[in-house]
Amino acid sequence: NLKMGIVGLPNVGKSTFFNILTKLQAAAENFPFCTIDPNEGRVPVPDSRFDFLCEKYKPASKVPAFLNVVDIAGLVKGANEGHGLGNAFLSHIKACDGIFHMIRIFDDEEIVHVEGNVDPIRDIEIINEELRLKDLDYVQKIHDELEKKVVRAGDKTLKFEFEVLHKIVDVLKNQSKAVRYHDWNDKEIDILNKHLMLTSKPIVYLLNMSETEYIKKKNKWLPKIKQWVDANDVGATIIPYSAAFEYKLSEMSDDERKKYLEENNLSSQMDKIIVTGYKALHLSYFFTAGEDEVKCWTIQNGARAPQAAGRIHTDFEKGFIMAEVMKFEDFKENGTESAVKAAGKYRQQGKQYVVEDGDIIFFKFNA
Ligand code: GDP
Repeated sequence: NLKMGIVGLPNVGKSTFFNILTKLQAAAENFPFCTIDPNEGRVPVPDSRFDFLCEKYKPASKVPAFLNVVDIAGLVKGANEGHGLGNAFLSHIKACDGIFHMIRIFDDEEIVHVEGNVDPIRDIEIINEELRLKDLDYVQKIHDELEKKVVRAGDKTLKFEFEVLHKIVDVLKNQSKAVRYHDWNDKEIDILNKHLMLTSKPIVYLLNMSETEYIKKKNKWLPKIKQWVDANDVGATIIPYSAAFEYKLSEMSDDERKKYLEENNLSSQMDKIIVTGYKALHLSYFFTAGEDEVKCWTIQNGARAPQAAGRIHTDFEKGFIMAEVMKFEDFKENGTESAVKAAGKYRQQGKQYVVEDGDIIFFKFNA
């Protein structure tokens, strides 16, 4: 199960964000959620296509896709040297596949900032620096081991891996950059995947602003942060939101919330945050749909039809014959499965078919 970890300095709004997610989870599941780890949760991924299918089939069971999220306690400066709960936190981040990097841009005299004042650029750099130093420490050790084998003992089999590690050390140490920042080719990526690194994880920056500023869509830090990310972390997504505002919404009933948002011409950012987190993990899903059940099945982007079938049952993968695929848009346009067939848009796909997000699939297999 791939998951996003919530990372940031203390008192920036991580727990508040996690609590909002927990409420969304509770609202979606009609059984009490129990978990051995109170810091881990899963929230439904909002999707109007899923809602449409449920409306159409009125199935007995509805199962959306879920995003797994872990609340990781605050990192502090020097964590890589064991400050705070340092290394424990960093190993929790290691167990995640992507990062929600929470940044405080709200002013509030009452809420202490560990660094004394609100300065998001400094905060981003503190966290990124901790992650970079931890990676460097880790990679340098492996690099030095390999150096002994390759350079001194002349082991040719490890030469390529050594060269890649050398490059990684260069990016982290000499360029002071995240591994993510550099473009790697496929062979290099294979090596990177062997050594799960903190700075190679996809990042979504969440900027936590005050409710007032969120409503006014104005905060002096926003342009500065955009500029910083463009210069230092190309490709990372930035989402401004307000934990205080979202928390208020989460306390309202569905009707109340709808009315409040419409009357004030406001919208929540939670859907966007969840969908962006899910996509950052390189995940997508296909649907199975019928009167019994409408369900989203999570797959890795690029998965082929038999692998996708294997998500439902291993027998489906072993005895795979074909996938019968409708594109969601075709289903929506034509209204029923038979109409899609009549329109010539119901396709039979073989083993090489790469499943696309939103495909509605019926698998045929040998039992
Ligand atoms: P964490 O240490 O990062 O988990 O931070 P918390 O979520 O516990 O938040 C720390 C404090 O900041 C709490 O008292 C929150 O109520 C407060 N807080 C969180 N988000 C906001 C916000 O958007 N505006 C204001 N004014 N306070 C907030």
